[in-house]
Formats: sequence, structure tokens, C-alpha cells
Amino acid sequence: MPYGLGRVRFMDDDEQASKPSWSLFSRILAYFKPYRWPLALAVFIILFQTSLSLVPPLVLRSIIDEALPTKDLGLLGLLVGGSILATVGINLLQVGQSYLNQWIAKHIVFNLKNTLYHHLQGMSMRYFTTAKPGDILTRLSSDVDGIQDIFNSTVVNALNSGFTLFTTAIVLMLMNWKLGLLSLAVLPLFILPTRKVGKARWKIAQKSQEKVSELHQIISETLGISGVLLMKIFTKEADHRREFETTHQELIKLQLKETLVGRWFMMTIQIFMTIGPMLVYLYGGYLMIQGELTVGAIVAFVALLNRLYGPVTQLSNIHIEVTRSFALFGRIFDLLDADQEITDAPQAHELRVNDGRIVFENVHFAYQLETEILHGISLTCEPNTVTALVGPSGAGKSTITNLIPRLYEIQSGTLTIDGQNIQAVTLNSLRRNIGIVPQEPYLFNATIAENLRYAKSDASDAEMIAACTAAYIHDFIISLPEGYNTLVGNRGIKLSGGEKQRLSIARVILKNPKIIIFDEATSSLDSLSEAYIQKAMGPLLEGRTALIIAHRLSTVLRADRLIVLDKGDLVESGTHNDLLNHKGLYAQLYATQFLTQEETQSNPDTVIK
Ligand code: ATP
Repeated sequence: MPYGLGRVRFMDDDEQASKPSWSLFSRILAYFKPYRWPLALAVFIILFQTSLSLVPPLVLRSIIDEALPTKDLGLLGLLVGGSILATVGINLLQVGQSYLNQWIAKHIVFNLKNTLYHHLQGMSMRYFTTAKPGDILTRLSSDVDGIQDIFNSTVVNALNSGFTLFTTAIVLMLMNWKLGLLSLAVLPLFILPTRKVGKARWKIAQKSQEKVSELHQIISETLGISGVLLMKIFTKEADHRREFETTHQELIKLQLKETLVGRWFMMTIQIFMTIGPMLVYLYGGYLMIQGELTVGAIVAFVALLNRLYGPVTQLSNIHIEVTRSFALFGRIFDLLDADQEITDAPQAHELRVNDGRIVFENVHFAYQLETEILHGISLTCEPNTVTALVGPSGAGKSTITNLIPRLYEIQSGTLTIDGQNIQAVTLNSLRRNIGIVPQEPYLFNATIAENLRYAKSDASDAEMIAACTAAYIHDFIISLPEGYNTLVGNRGIKLSGGEKQRLSIARVILKNPKIIIFDEATSSLDSLSEAYIQKAMGPLLEGRTALIIAHRLSTVLRADRLIVLDKGDLVESGTHNDLLNHKGLYAQLYATQFLTQEETQSNPDTVIK
């Protein structure tokens, strides 16, 4: 999909769908409605300023026809003074008008961007798993910003050019209708080449935007933290450099072509701009000889001609601007209309957690409607106990944990916490009561303290230290030169996997929720890191309802109850010993997966002295 950073965006095939229509137009108007008074003022200023700019050419006529022939110095001074005053007034009004235009456009953009950001925050995980991050960023930044330019280039431009054209045409016709008609008759000479060149430039500009987008794609893919690593490891620097240079070269060629088309365009316009006044002089001269026109009128006519040609040139491409505006608004509305999927029910109440008992009753779930992933799961996670989910890869363990904070919506069945259906409580209260330690903890590129306070913004230093001590990470943090103020790098790259996980545990301890979901890392850690994590899990799980996706022997041994899943079905449940005796899937997993792990994992004290 072609998208450009920068201000101007062009349509792609999808956008062709956002053709101008009344419903789209009235929806766009709704965004202008709160600013109707500033808009009315802007229209008034445009009207006043375009009328005022008729004064200097008309004054010129009076100077030539009245003040000069009669040698009336007083009148000459008055006319020149009036013309200067009008010019100063026009320019002052232009300053005010452009400030007002910017003010209106910026406020519309401000509101739209906030609404869009808020809407995107509420979108479901399903949306974010398929949406392209670049596309979201483009819509939120350059699409919305583009509206500001569009306001200036479409609305203001159309009003300005329209009024100027209208008022000038009337004055010309009033001065002399025959010469007026001749002046208007040459206008098609401007419209035709402008439209043709406008279209050609538009096509080239579209192509160069695609190239810009390709260039950005190369930059973001090869200079991002993960891409750079891959590039270095596979020594692809030269390939990417070539790719970058070729795309860049193609872009420059297109940009040069665009400029050249622009030059041809200017040349054509310049020729017509010279022809217009010549025709006026020819026919005006004839009318003067006939005694129908004065010299001053001819000069004023020529001066007014520029007020016809400029706006006509602007207006001949207005349809491109309008189509572009509708396409931009269309893209933004598409996003605003996208279903958020998971929202608070109309009568949603706050979740009240006492014990933290989680009950799944005959829960069916599918990521895509046609492929059911969980086939009627029923299970209870008791308070103050550790429930471990085990099963082969793809069995549905992560999926089960994703359903509890309503990251995905169940298709049928019920899921309750302390007897309250999770679909009937507010998302905020539900997620406030759940702490998640993901397999690959995400850390922001900020300090350790800032990452920790993401869980509790008003946490005191003492609380933070207590949480880190409980998570066995405090000693490591204070051993760093900048302690809690150490920057962790993009995605926490400056920390090891084990350190990141312990920091993530500390963050959840600081949040202090009643329900804990722990997705154990599958990657093997060294025995010291492993032992630290096992130690850190003690305070994390204590006195809470804990659900762990278990990959380690030590964890299954620690669990009060094991749930064995296979292909979306709950196939076994019980204690470690029960299940071993049962000699089913768990016994197999134990023999192939858990038993092979180091014995030290189950006994951290042997490592941490
Ligand atoms: P692992 O131990 O490998 O993480 P798991 O038991 O946690 O596996 P899940 O991640 O719950 O398994 O996946 C269960 C099934 O759902 C898999 O077949 C997987 O391909 C599919 N799946 C997981 N996430 C998505 C998603 N976002 N969209 C579509 N299908 C998905």
C-alpha cells in the first residue's frame, strides 16, 4: 500500500472507493460545525479582502482618466493614498485570514487525531494482530495532518478563487461588456492546459509517493532493532544499500520529471498570460478609437485580467483537491468505523473481587469463525492456589489465558470471576484485577523506575524497592551505575531475558492484583537465572489465584493442580502424582519434556546461597 510520510497523500485503489458522496460530505461537515463562527468570519474576511483588492485597478483607471488629464494634484494624491491604504488593508486581512485558517484547520486536526487515537486504543487484539503498524501510523499522522493542507488548498482556495473570479467578472462586464466578454472568452485557454498538466503531475506525484513509501519501508525494516540484527548476522548490508540507492534514484527521477511537467505548465500559462492582455489591447484599442472606451479603462482591464487568470488556474484543478480530500476523510472514517469488538456492556458494573475464583463453563472460542480453537472448556481456578496449564504446543494454553482479561471474546459458554460474568463488568475493573507476566516481557525504552511505575504511577521508592526485592532483582538494579535510573533500551534490549522477566514480575507485584497469569519462558535460562525466577515466583503467586502456562519441571511440581490440554480440549486434570499414575498425556509429556530438565530448577536454594 503506498503511503507517504510528509504532508501530501495520494489515493490508492482502496481509496478510489471513497468517492465524493453526500453522506460523506455531511459527515465531513460535522467536523467543521463546532467552528462555524470562526469559519463565518473567515468567509467574511475572504469576501471583504477580495472586494477590496478590486480597488487598486479601479483607482488606476481614475488616475489615468481623471486625475492626470485634469492635472488635479489633489485628486491624484487622494487616489494614490486610497490605493496604498487599500493595499495595506488587503495584506493585513490576508495575515488575519491565514491565521484564522490555520487555527480552524489545527483545531479540526486536533479533535480528529484525539478521537482516532482514543478509538484505536479501544480496538481489539484481533485488530492489532493483522493491522500494519505503518498503516496505523500513516493514518494517525500524515492522513490527519493532510486534512490541514486540504482545508487550505480546497476550502479556502475555492472560496478565495471563486469570489475573486466572480467579483472581477462582474466589474469587467460593468466596465465594458464587450471587452468583458472577450476577457472571459480566453479563460478556456487556461483551463484546458491546466487540467491536462494537473492530471499528468498528479499521476507522477502518485508514483513518487509510492517510491517514498518504499524508501520508508526499507528504512524501517532494515534500521529497526530486529532488522539491523538480522542484516548484520546475514551480512546483507551491501544488498540493502543497493536496494536503498536504486529506490532513491527512481524517486529522484520521478521528482525531476514532476518538476519538468511543472515547467511546461508554467510556460504555457505564461504564454496565455501575455496573449490575454494583447487581445485586450487590440480590441480595447479598437473600442477606444470608436470612442467607446478610455485609456484608463484599458489599463484597468489589463490589471484586472490577472485576477481572472490566477483563480481560473487554481479552480481548474479543484476537482483533484476535492477527490483527494474525500479520499483522506474516507480513510480516516474507515478507521473510526472499524468495530472495536470488545467494549463495556451498556449496564457494565465494576468487578468486585473477593477470593478471585475463576470459572470457565463450556467455553468455546475461535480466532477465525471457521476454526474453533477451544471446544467447550470447563475448569475452575481456585483462590490461593496455583493452577498450571500444560500441553503440547498449539494446544490452546495461551488462548485460555487471553480470554480471562477479555483480550479476545469467547464465542459461547461463560467465564466468571467470583460469580460475575466477565462480559458484564467494566473492562477497566476487570483488567485492574489481573496481572500478567508474559513470555517475552515488553519494556519501554525508559528507565527501570519508569517501567516499574507503569504498573502503579504513584508508587513510592520504598514500594518499588520492596517489589524488586521480592522479585530478586533489586540487588542487580543497584549494582548498575545508574541504579533505578538506568535506561533499558528499545524493548529492554540492554537487559538479559531473565532480568527482563524478573523486572516484569516486580512490575506485577507492584500492581498487586488478585489474579495472576504467568506465561513461563520456553527458552532455557542458565540455572542461576532460572533459580532467581523460581524464587521471585514465590511472592508473586502467594495469596492469589494463579494460572501458569508451565514449561518447567519446577513449576509443575509447585502447582496445586495441573490442567492438561490437547488440541483445544481439556483432557486431564489433577495433581502431579494423580496424573503420573493415570499414565495419560501428562505422563508422556513428563517423560519427554519435563523430566529431561535439570534437577536444580526444582531446587533453587542449591543455586542461590
Ligand atoms: P505454545 O505452547 O506453543 O505457546 P499454546 O498451547 O499456548 O502453544 P495457543 O497459542 O493458545 O497454543 O494456540 C492455539 C491455536 O490457536 C494454535 O493452533 C494457533 O495457531 C492458534 N492461534 C493462536 N493465536 C492466534 C491468533 N492470534 N490468530 C489465529 N490463530 C491463532
